[in-house]
Amino acid sequence: MMHIPYETQLKIKQSRVERLLRPFCRVEKIIGMDNPYHYRNKVSAAFGVNRRREIISGVYQSSSHSIVSVDDCLIEDKAADKIVVTIRSLLSSFRLLPYNEDSQMGFLRHVLIRRGFATGQTMVVLVTAREMFPGKSNFVRALIAAHPEITTIVQNINGERTSMVLGDREKVLYGRGKIEDILCGLRFNISPRSFYQINPVQTEILYKKAIEAARLTRSDRVIDAYCGIGTIGMIAAESAGQVVGVELNGDAVRDARENARLNFIDNVRFYKGDAGLFMDEMASNGDRADVVIMDPPRSGSSERFLRSLVNMRPDRVVYVSCNPETLARDLVLLKKGGYRAQYAQPVDMFPHTEHVETVVLMMRKDA
Ligand code: SAH
Repeated sequence: MMHIPYETQLKIKQSRVERLLRPFCRVEKIIGMDNPYHYRNKVSAAFGVNRRREIISGVYQSSSHSIVSVDDCLIEDKAADKIVVTIRSLLSSFRLLPYNEDSQMGFLRHVLIRRGFATGQTMVVLVTAREMFPGKSNFVRALIAAHPEITTIVQNINGERTSMVLGDREKVLYGRGKIEDILCGLRFNISPRSFYQINPVQTEILYKKAIEAARLTRSDRVIDAYCGIGTIGMIAAESAGQVVGVELNGDAVRDARENARLNFIDNVRFYKGDAGLFMDEMASNGDRADVVIMDPPRSGSSERFLRSLVNMRPDRVVYVSCNPETLARDLVLLKKGGYRAQYAQPVDMFPHTEHVETVVLMMRKDA
């Protein structure tokens, strides 16, 4: 959306959320960024060759696997973009080839860079087609020499014929294999395969809005569903009685448990599993919660989750959504289940793209 002035982008997102949520509640004014550039702390680059057989790296053209070469991007972290360019030039000097999806020959598939904006820690993930890495130590040494800000390098092995970026085997080549960042005053470890919000400036605003909506007290039992590395749950734990987090990704759950220890938070527990199944089991065990904070992926929540939520009858539900379409779809079920949406707060987490984040507070009608 970069061809559209930023103020107009915000108006477009505002009216989209208003149109979708009109049947449910009022929509507050969207919170935009003061400086909506270079906000992405994560850069993912696909590697390949062009017609002149030169190595290129960048993003896939929409609905295809042809690579659009990118050297720098106005929404990405500048230092991360520079590391990708360095890796591209190192490939030729080390005679390493990008992976070719058709012939399944070649070595490097993707590079993923993640930076902790508050700590400066930088992680480089090299996604390779096979484990054998000719010239590995010299490659690592040359990369660190060119970018001393790199704190860890991980090799992720993805030998499958798949459009998934990351495979499930990892080798730490340098440093501790994860980075740390600070959000809302708490420290978080982030592993290569764990989810982490890509715009930390707006994430702090989003989390504050979500916690404010939850109106927590010391006697509240809170569920943080789709909790990732435990960010929202741990911030909630500072003003709640007990917090339980549930998350499908095992690496993220491990990070979450470690993060609770790191911050000396002892009133939070994390479970690995499908959020719907977990809620189902809690509801049928007669376990209760006063507040459910949920932050599902773009595809939204599941019917199973929403039905068990309604059966559990928490007073307040805070829905954090990165897709207003699936949010509106899920709100229909919650409305039928006796919940009334109070207000929605859009936050612009992704300037210059069509995406928009929204927090909705719902309360049980008879609460
Ligand atoms: N609240 C976190 C993570 C939000 S992203 C944060 O703000 O950082 C959504 C998370 O849901 C991801 O970590 C993803 O791994 C997880 N997830 C996806 N499907 C799930 C499911 N069925 N059950 C539980 N967690 C799921």
